[in-house]
Amino acid sequence: MKYESVNQALEDLRKHQQTVSAYQHAMGVMNVDASTAAPKGSWEGRGQTMGILSEIAYQLDTDPRLDEMLTFLEAHMQELDPQQKRQVEVLRKGFDETRKIPAQEFVEYCVLLNDAQAAWEKAKLENDFDAFAPFLEKIMATNRRFAGYYNPSLAPYDALLDRYEEGLTMAALDPFFEKLRAAIVPLIAKIQQVPQIDDSFLHRHYPVETQRRFSDYLMEVMGIDRSYCTLAETEHPFTSGFNNKDVRITTHYHADDPSASMFSVIHEGGHALYELGGDDCYNFTVLQGGASMGIHESQSRFYENIIGRSRAFIHAIFPRAKELFPEQLADVDEEMFYRAVNKAQPSLIRTMADELTYANHIMIRYEMEKQLIGGTLEVRDVPKEWNRLYKEYLGVEVPNDTVGCLQDTHWASGLVGYFPSYALGSAYGAQMLEKMQADLGDVFADVANGDLSKVTGWLKEHIHRHASFKKPGQLFEEVCGEFDASCFTDYLTKKYTELYNLK
Ligand code: ZN
Repeated sequence: MKYESVNQALEDLRKHQQTVSAYQHAMGVMNVDASTAAPKGSWEGRGQTMGILSEIAYQLDTDPRLDEMLTFLEAHMQELDPQQKRQVEVLRKGFDETRKIPAQEFVEYCVLLNDAQAAWEKAKLENDFDAFAPFLEKIMATNRRFAGYYNPSLAPYDALLDRYEEGLTMAALDPFFEKLRAAIVPLIAKIQQVPQIDDSFLHRHYPVETQRRFSDYLMEVMGIDRSYCTLAETEHPFTSGFNNKDVRITTHYHADDPSASMFSVIHEGGHALYELGGDDCYNFTVLQGGASMGIHESQSRFYENIIGRSRAFIHAIFPRAKELFPEQLADVDEEMFYRAVNKAQPSLIRTMADELTYANHIMIRYEMEKQLIGGTLEVRDVPKEWNRLYKEYLGVEVPNDTVGCLQDTHWASGLVGYFPSYALGSAYGAQMLEKMQADLGDVFADVANGDLSKVTGWLKEHIHRHASFKKPGQLFEEVCGEFDASCFTDYLTKKYTELYNLK
């Protein structure tokens, strides 16, 4: 239809976003249900329902009427308020990205990813990279081709990065990772020269039932209102947010390591606070939820590492831990607990990595993705290159591909250009801490009393309430000024030099 007035187009745009949000809400809840409460045998019916819902969602995303609304509004941008302008901008980006991919190629890619997922699971289980390689080749080739559709004026890998972190480029990431590597690799080497921290008490038996009570306590300390956020149990912890009053987080309990769930709850709790903290006006629009993957990770990692692994936080929660686990922690004091949960040791598995060595796992994936998309690395050489980089950046030998290049699901799921935001999040968080302390003074005195309200209040004011109204880079710079990775490297150097008494 032809629009006669801005109001009419805006009204249609509002309804369109509400409808899209409703489908996302329904599919999101089904996904959470599938991994938490749904009976095993329900997969077939759910598959059919999801197929139908996602087809409608795809039609909505590529609806020519949306194009008409956007085209009309783009011609009247000066009449829109900032929020409406941003909606038009975000919807246009999404619409163009989806529509530029020929329908046939899109369908083929969905089939490829479905097959690749099954092939990857089997290959990982059987340590058989060669069986997965043909799928990985096609996934990389498709992503390279799609990058040209998304934004032909950018280098292909830059176009892929931009999908997860608007505006992020290799030109920004190269010096970032270089700086991290220059600081972290020598720290790791120094730590290997001194006595390692004893964390053996964390591997005693901690009944899951008691760990659940500990999780309830941690969510309470974080100030998460359980009327709007549930905690469930899944194989891999995650957060799903549907609007600022409906967020689901999950954890996974290990009876021989309570710190795994403890920091999962705090990490996912950080994501949850971000989702819950958005202003009401963004609900059911394209601007609800976080600004980007990187900003989201900055929040989860802020709570998990900067707060959760601080002496102050351990001081606050240790009495309750001791109350719940009197026998397991009988010979343990607060300082021992603090040191144990901060133990740094290079390892093979990214998801198990500690705060110090985590970024190295990411820079390895970044190097490889850059080369795979840039065409300077062949898929068949992935294991060799992976193992070489693990030796160089982390000093570990990779015994097989199951714990090597086959460990993560990301590439099999088509997520190329996604990894860097994890490391970026940690670095964003460290700079946010500096700014927060400059504004509020030492926040850790409150944290030591189990009071996170100042910390969360600051983050809500500067980050959470804006949802995705601002571009991630702009949001960050308005709060913290120009991004400076040395805040993160300084933070790590200071923390680990003190922790390990390094010279
Ligand atoms: Zn996360």
